[in-house]
Amino acid sequence: EETLQHHYLADAIVELEPSATEAVDEKVKEMRRQGIDDMISLGVGEPCFDTPDNIKNAAVKALMDGETKYQPTAGAVPLREAICRKLERENNIKTDAENVVVTAGGKFSIYLAFTAMLQKGDTVVLLDPAWVSYEAAAQINGAKVIRVPSSAADGFSPDLDRVERVMDDSVKIIVANSPCNPSGALFSKDTLRQLARIADKYGAMLMSDEVYEYQIYGQTHYSPASEFENIITVNAFSKSYAMTGWRLGYSVAPADIVDGMKKIYSHSTSSVTSFAQWGAIEALDSEASAAEVKKMQRIYEENRSLMIRLIQKSAYLDLDCEPQGAFYCFPSYRFDMGSIELATRLLEKYHVGTVPGLAFGQCGEGFLRLSYAADGKAIEEAMGRMETFFQELEKEIG
Ligand code: PLP
Repeated sequence: EETLQHHYLADAIVELEPSATEAVDEKVKEMRRQGIDDMISLGVGEPCFDTPDNIKNAAVKALMDGETKYQPTAGAVPLREAICRKLERENNIKTDAENVVVTAGGKFSIYLAFTAMLQKGDTVVLLDPAWVSYEAAAQINGAKVIRVPSSAADGFSPDLDRVERVMDDSVKIIVANSPCNPSGALFSKDTLRQLARIADKYGAMLMSDEVYEYQIYGQTHYSPASEFENIITVNAFSKSYAMTGWRLGYSVAPADIVDGMKKIYSHSTSSVTSFAQWGAIEALDSEASAAEVKKMQRIYEENRSLMIRLIQKSAYLDLDCEPQGAFYCFPSYRFDMGSIELATRLLEKYHVGTVPGLAFGQCGEGFLRLSYAADGKAIEEAMGRMETFFQELEKEIG
């Protein structure tokens, strides 16, 4: 039914849901604005740190030195060269500046690649539970999404046989996100290799979203583009260097995809902010920021242990899949209640923000995503309130 309100909108946009994670964040902020001063958010996917000073200073210096002009659409050449050095040094990916596109966050890399590649009739394969924006980006571009389920019992690692079974010639992209938001799963090297091979067999690309590569606990990161050609690697400065508000990310892809992305980019936003790119160069090249990253990693590691301990102590939460990466725990809860209702009640009554698992797909129903990129004391307080909330809920619904 066409309503007046929808009259001007494209069908794909009418059907589109806004980002669930941003909705939680908005709600928390709105409650704060209303004067509720004891809000604790375990809902946002954002480091609890400020950007390291050396990175800020490099951007300030660039600004004062006059880096205030248009840059090449794909990013300033020195930044793309620094990205290439980083990829070779840390990810064993050999590429050159022509294959790199610097974007407003990793999110816009994903969006641009999808826009460049997809049209009606195409399919994107997602591994459920999956980060919220892949499906939306596919929908906006008229493509169909097939979600391949996984389970906590299998550590939320994809079932490769099921992936094979959904493949056909309409599949253009399989998206793998390791370490994974929301589950914290780290896919094995073998799994990622198999995904690259399955994609290749059907003429598809594997998009490897590696934005949490610096949040891995006790294992090593593997980038499929170190071995395979049919890969779009997506990364960002956001989580790695606590630079979410800078909106800086990048992708590396084969030349024709990069050319397609650049064409759309040049007609839309042209490029990211000039002087911010010099902050990004400093982030990649300096020892000072490497040392800051290590400090952040130690704190994430401590917080992760703390949250795992508190979940294990809880009478109402289960953590079947201990997170190996990112900064989230993804426990299930022992109530027969939808995750949206549960998270909403928890937020409204106890002022604790979490993300309902359903936001990440059907496999996330019955789970909550809790971010431990937060102050340790706040984590303890929030988990304490959750336990009280669950006790009350038990009395109410049993
Ligand atoms: N990919 C995943 C899995 C994410 O969780 C996020 C941010 O939440 C992004 C990409 C986008 O990050 P950015 O802030 O760099 O756009």
